[in-house]
Amino acid sequence: MSRHGFELKTNEQIILMRQAGLATAAGLDAIRKLIRAGITTLELDKAADDAIRAHGGHSNFQLVEGYKHTICASVNDEVVHGIPGNRVLQPGDIVSIDCGAEIGEWNGDSAVTFIVPGGDPEVAAKRQLLSDITEQSLWAGIAALANATYLNEVGMAIEEYVYSQGNYGILEEYVGHGIGRSMHEDPAVYNYRVRGNGPKVVPGLVVAIEPMVTAGSAVTKVLGDGWTVSTKDASDASHWEHTVAVHEGGIWVLTAADGGAAGLAKFGIKPVPLA
Ligand code: MG
Ligand code: MG
Repeated sequence: MSRHGFELKTNEQIILMRQAGLATAAGLDAIRKLIRAGITTLELDKAADDAIRAHGGHSNFQLVEGYKHTICASVNDEVVHGIPGNRVLQPGDIVSIDCGAEIGEWNGDSAVTFIVPGGDPEVAAKRQLLSDITEQSLWAGIAALANATYLNEVGMAIEEYVYSQGNYGILEEYVGHGIGRSMHEDPAVYNYRVRGNGPKVVPGLVVAIEPMVTAGSAVTKVLGDGWTVSTKDASDASHWEHTVAVHEGGIWVLTAADGGAAGLAKFGIKPVPLA
């Protein structure tokens, strides 16, 4: 246990969490291969579920009370918690897919934003840029974690990067979190500057870092389904997430197939897998 009351993971536990991370990555990879105009978000949900099961895992989203699906699919002005259904994706849609898997008692959690090919090239380019900025802010946060003394340095790095790119919004009502035996554990991982330092970054800390960035205002509303979070001003949104472990040797991005090597390269950081 850490001084703050959440469980620090042993190397052996982190290795088990890697398996859940890879099953989560497989779920998102299945969607990457399928996503196109004309497909429904429910079809994507099924593909992710099949891929997670093929990896020996099961959906942990289905363990959240009242939720029956494997992914959240949030389209255009929807930021997070969109429910898969009969919505047919259109050319140029920006779609954030959040996915998680559990193997044994260990969890993974990751999100990716896709731009559906086609549509108005100008709109698609703007949406791709929003997704790229959000993804890069995630890697900036992960890179900050690698060198951080305190956890709040992650949010500082994310905020600094996002605001350096223009007049974008960062959601504040929804944040990242510790992860382990449950998908959502303490501590909170903010995507913006906060006053407190937060817990010390020590070996055994495993967190899901997940910036949610909007092209306009970051003020949101929850739709009538009770789940879907969308921007109040109807501006586009993007969500990227990885589960990241800190251990004695360094950091390891558990939900990235390459452990985070590609995303961290430009920061001069090499992830350190455990074996
Ligand atoms: Mg997630
Ligand atoms: Mg999460």
